[in-house]
Order: sequence, then C-alpha cells, then structure tokens
Amino acid sequence: MSQTPYVSVVIPVYNEELNVGPLHEELTTALAAVGSTYEILYVDDGSSDRTPAKLREICASDPHVRVVFFRRNFGQTAALSAGFDHARGQVVVTMDADLQNDPADIPKLIAKLAEGFDIVSGWRMQRKDPFLSRRLPSTMANALISLTTKVKLHDYGCTLKAFKSDVVKGIKLYGEMHRFIPAVASWMGVEVAEVPVNHRARKFGRSKYGIGRTIRVLLDLILVKYLLSYVNRPIQIFGLIGIWTFLFGGSVATYLSYRRLVLGEAIGGRPLLLFAVLFIFMGVQFITIGLLAEIQARTYHESVDKQIYVVREVMEGGDRAPRG
Ligand code: UDP
Ligand code: MG
Repeated sequence: MSQTPYVSVVIPVYNEELNVGPLHEELTTALAAVGSTYEILYVDDGSSDRTPAKLREICASDPHVRVVFFRRNFGQTAALSAGFDHARGQVVVTMDADLQNDPADIPKLIAKLAEGFDIVSGWRMQRKDPFLSRRLPSTMANALISLTTKVKLHDYGCTLKAFKSDVVKGIKLYGEMHRFIPAVASWMGVEVAEVPVNHRARKFGRSKYGIGRTIRVLLDLILVKYLLSYVNRPIQIFGLIGIWTFLFGGSVATYLSYRRLVLGEAIGGRPLLLFAVLFIFMGVQFITIGLLAEIQARTYHESVDKQIYVVREVMEGGDRAPRG
C-alpha cells in the first residue's frame, strides 16, 4: 500500500498456526466497519510451527498486511515494540493473535480515541480464563498496579488497546513491560479511557505463559514505579530510606553506648548491638547507592539525549490558535 493508513493493527504472533487464518478474516470484517484506511502488522515472534507460512499466504493475498518476522523468539513485549516501530498509522491498535480478543471491538476503541483520548484500553469484564492461574493473580496485580501508578484501570493485562501513534512511538519497552504502557506513557501526560470488551476462551493452541508470570509482573511494577517517580531524582528515594535506617541504627547505638559507658553494663551479647551495626551500615549503603544512581541518571539522560519533559507544541508569535 502506498498511502499511509489511518489505523495500524499490531499483533504479536507466536505459534498460533490455527488462529491466524480465522483471526485475519474477523479482522478484515471489523476493519471494514471502521471505514478508514488501515494496515495489519503481524509480528511473527520466531514461531516454530506453521505460523510463518500461514502469515506469508495471508500477506501475499492482502495488500493491507505487512509481516515482520523475528529471527527467534524474543517475547511478546519485543514483538509489540517492533510493531510500534513499523506502524505507519496515526492510530495504533494492539491485540492478541489467539482470538481471545474480539476484533469486532476495534471500531468501539477507535471511536473512543477520536473523542480526544490518547489511550483507550480494553476491559475484559467477563474473562474466559482459568481462575487460579489467571484471574486471581490478575485481580491482585490490577489492585496493586492501581495503587502504585497514577493510571487507574480495571484491567491492565488486556492487550486490546488503541493508542495515538505518538504515544507508542515515544516510549521504549523492556522486559515484560507491555502491560504497563499506559503507566509508562503517563509520564508524558496522557488521557486514558477504558472500554468494556468481549473476551473469549482460547480455542486453538496453548497459552504461552504460566503462573511464573506473576513474579515477573511484580518486578516490573517495582521498576515502573521507580522509573515514573524517581528516575530523575534517585537520591530522593535511596537517600530517604538511607537516612531513616541510619538514624534508627544510630539511636540504637547511642542507647547501647549509654548502657555501656554510663551504667557500666556489658552489651557484647545483646542482639540489639547487631541491629545497630546492621542499620548504620544499611543507611550508609542506601545513601551511597542513591549517589551512584544520580550519576547514572545523568549519564542515561545525556547519552541518549533523553529529555526530562515532553512538549505538546510550541506556539510562535503570529500563529493561529490550534483547533480543538
Ligand atoms: N506471544 C508472543 N511471543 C511470546 C508469547 C506470546 O508473541 O513469546 C503472543 C501470542 O501469540 C499471543 C499473545 O502474545 O498472540 C498473548 O499470548 P497468550 O495468549 O499465550 O497469553 P495469555 O492470553 O494466556 O495471557
Ligand atoms: Mg491468550
């Protein structure tokens, strides 16, 4: 396709040979209903089944399709990231390839985005997933993410989302970070909306994740919180913890010195002595880590020319006021 499309649908695909065919049909129907120009970007994440062949067939027969093939399996976050890099549309929609998300919801998301939001996230009100391995950890994760980040959503894990393209072009994703895109994007100032979407049980193929994902999500949450709140001022968090632990250790040590020097008691066998030493040490360590992190933060921002702010636009004298 020569002209740039309005909508880019980005789909990570890993060993979904039985899903891609029906998925493509459903997508084509749904996108026709949107009525704008579109492209579908499949990112084959190093599949080892017949998925690549199926994608080649689909691509050969439909000019709306582009496929990015990875050399090996890099993971869903990397696949999404590649999709964002290759997407040309003003609107980027992400979804799973396993037919659990319903392409028929796409027009709803795009319409909501057109109301002026930067991110519209799907909310799987009735999830068709196993309770113990999926819905329970996910309920807890959602509550925790909501508490720690400023973006309030019911369902962070839903891959069906729509973005204004500058939102996804402006962020870098690492690890298993894709569920935190709204939170990561929140630092640049975004309007986020949520829309209930349909969810279906997996019919073909297997889920690529187990319960082990919960721990990884937790670690990413800590990282996201740090990146959002303290990456520009690490000494504020490490130094704060350091000063409190140091003060605590120091007061215990003072108390013990008093018992030893004034009252003449033996303190060598007291467990409290260990605490005093431990906390004083920890305090010094935390403050030092904070100082090192400050140096790192400067290196980071200056080496990649990353600004600590995001500009929406710059108006020049004599410009007409922007519409809308
Ligand atoms: N996926 C991927 N690379 C991976 C694992 C998964 O591209 O290493 C894709 C997978 O094909 C699917 C989506 O990511 O389109 C979500 O995966 P899955 O359905 O296994 O996750 P679940 O729905 O069980 O959370
Ligand atoms: Mg799935």
